[in-house]
Amino acid sequence: MARYTDAVCRLCRREGQKLFLKGDRCYTDKCAADRRPYPPGQHGQGRVRTSEYGIQLREKQKAKRYYGVLERQFRGYYEIAHKRAGKTGENLLSILETRLDNTVYRLGFAMSRAEARQLVLHGHFQVNGKKVNIPSFQVKPGMIISIKEKSRGLDKIKAVIEANAFRQPPKWLEYDATALVAKVLASPSREDIDMPIEEQLIVEHYSR
Ligand code: SF4
Repeated sequence: MARYTDAVCRLCRREGQKLFLKGDRCYTDKCAADRRPYPPGQHGQGRVRTSEYGIQLREKQKAKRYYGVLERQFRGYYEIAHKRAGKTGENLLSILETRLDNTVYRLGFAMSRAEARQLVLHGHFQVNGKKVNIPSFQVKPGMIISIKEKSRGLDKIKAVIEANAFRQPPKWLEYDATALVAKVLASPSREDIDMPIEEQLIVEHYSR
């Protein structure tokens, strides 16, 4: 399975925005986007002229990087979103948001989406009582997401849950913090997705 393996802080600096890809570190003064708030590379501090195409491209790249999705899969999501009823951009965000790895992150079971992806790959989660180890698995209304019984005692998972206890899951998820179980109440609407992404720019990029 292909994935991005280069230094992830470069991605935040490239997008000019904190993408929160490194968990704990993102909230400390070691954050590279805070320390060096300009694009990486030799010409990072030079004058930047951005065309309309460039702005649309950057928005698409930013969304991909937020969710840790590579181009081919992202394009596939766009095609599905385009075929669905409603606004393509909002459909696209809803599809990204309902990936199992993102859902696990939203529930506070991981410090970052990358960590959520790892935990899903290692088979720590169940959907409707069955193990699912596919990060891109789409959760749907009515589905129940839980941590596998055996995995609940793992120090790593216990520590993350404790550290994230203050986080409120989004409205489209109902979370029982005692049972460590969540139910998908609905497909997330645009208001439920607090991401600084201008999805219309992504639609314009792919509509060229
Ligand atoms: Fe981005 Fe986190 Fe690295 Fe900061 S520490 S640049 S938010 S990945």
